[in-house]
Amino acid sequence: MALSDYVHTFGQQLLWRYGERVHKLAINAGFTCPNRDGSKGRGGCTFCNNSSFSPNARQDPDVSEQIEAGRKVLAKRTGAKKFLAYFQAYTNTYDDPAQLKARYDSALAEPGVIGLAIGTRPDCVPPAVLDLLAGYREQGYEIWLELGLQSAFDYTLERVNRGHGFAEYREAVLAAHERGLPVCTHLIVGLPGEEPAHNLLSLERVLDLGVEGLKLHPLHVVKGTMLANQWRRGEYVPWHLHQYVETVADMVERTPPEVCYHRLTGTADEKILLAPGWCNWKWRVLNAIERELASRGTRQGSCIEENTSTQRCKGTEAVKGIMGLG
Ligand code: SF4
Repeated sequence: MALSDYVHTFGQQLLWRYGERVHKLAINAGFTCPNRDGSKGRGGCTFCNNSSFSPNARQDPDVSEQIEAGRKVLAKRTGAKKFLAYFQAYTNTYDDPAQLKARYDSALAEPGVIGLAIGTRPDCVPPAVLDLLAGYREQGYEIWLELGLQSAFDYTLERVNRGHGFAEYREAVLAAHERGLPVCTHLIVGLPGEEPAHNLLSLERVLDLGVEGLKLHPLHVVKGTMLANQWRRGEYVPWHLHQYVETVADMVERTPPEVCYHRLTGTADEKILLAPGWCNWKWRVLNAIERELASRGTRQGSCIEENTSTQRCKGTEAVKGIMGLG
C-alpha cells in the first residue's frame, strides 16, 4: 500500500489527468509581503522566515532562469517533462496586475510549464488579479490559487500576527470560485494556543466554504522569527511527531474524497530549523501518517461516508468539547 491508497494526493490527481507525472517547480519571483512592508503590518507572521518555506527556491528574481535550473534538476532525477511553476516565496500577487502578468507570462513561456500555482494571502487577491488568473485558466493552463489561511480562528491569527482574519479568506474563496479558479488552502497544525480540535474545526470551516485542495504544514520554529524567541522563553512548545500524525489522520478522515491534498507535511532547511527536529524527516512523517490510517482501518473521507461509524474516527469528542457540545 502507498500513501495515495489512503489519501487523494495532488500528485496522483495530476498523474490521472495528464497521464504522466507533473512536478511543481518552486520559485522566488522577488515579491515582498504586505505584512512585512507596513501596508498590513510589520515584522510578518511570528513563524515566518521565508527561506524555511522554500528551501530550494533561488533568490534570483529571474523567473525563467530559475525554472530552467529547476527543470534540469527534476528532469535528471525523475524524467519529468511537465511542470507547474509554483510562485511560493512571500506574497505572489502583491504587485500591480501588469507586473504580475509579466512574471507569470515568463513562467508559462518556459518549455514544459503547463500552469501556475500562486501562493498568496487572502487579503491580497483583488478582482483584477483573480481575473488575470482566470484568463490563464480559460486558455487551458492548470491554475491554482494557494491561500494561506493557517487557522480559521481569528484569535489565533491575531496571536501569530497574520494581519487578516477568516472574513478575508471567505471573501477571497468566494471571489475565486465565482471565476472558476480552484483554491488550495494552507493550514498549519500546532499553532500557539491551539489543540487538535482547533485544526478539526478550521478544516470544517474551510470545507463548509468549499475548497478543491488542502496543504497541511507542521508549525516549525526557525531562526530569525518571533516564534523562535517565544520558544526560547518556553512560551511555545512544539508538538510531538505522534500528535501531528494523529491530528493529520483525523483531518484526512474528515475530508471528502474529491478534495486533494497538495501536501501533508513540510520541511525546513536544517540550517535554520530550531524545533521540532522531526520536521526535517519528510518521509518518516508521511510514512507515519500512512501507518496511522492503516492501523485505524480508515482513509480520506471515512468519517463522512455513509454507514461508517464516527466512533472509528478519533477526535470527535475533542471537537464537541471546543464547540461547547461535549
Ligand atoms: S508567512 Fe506569508 S503572509 Fe506571513 S509574513 Fe511571511 S510571507 Fe507574509
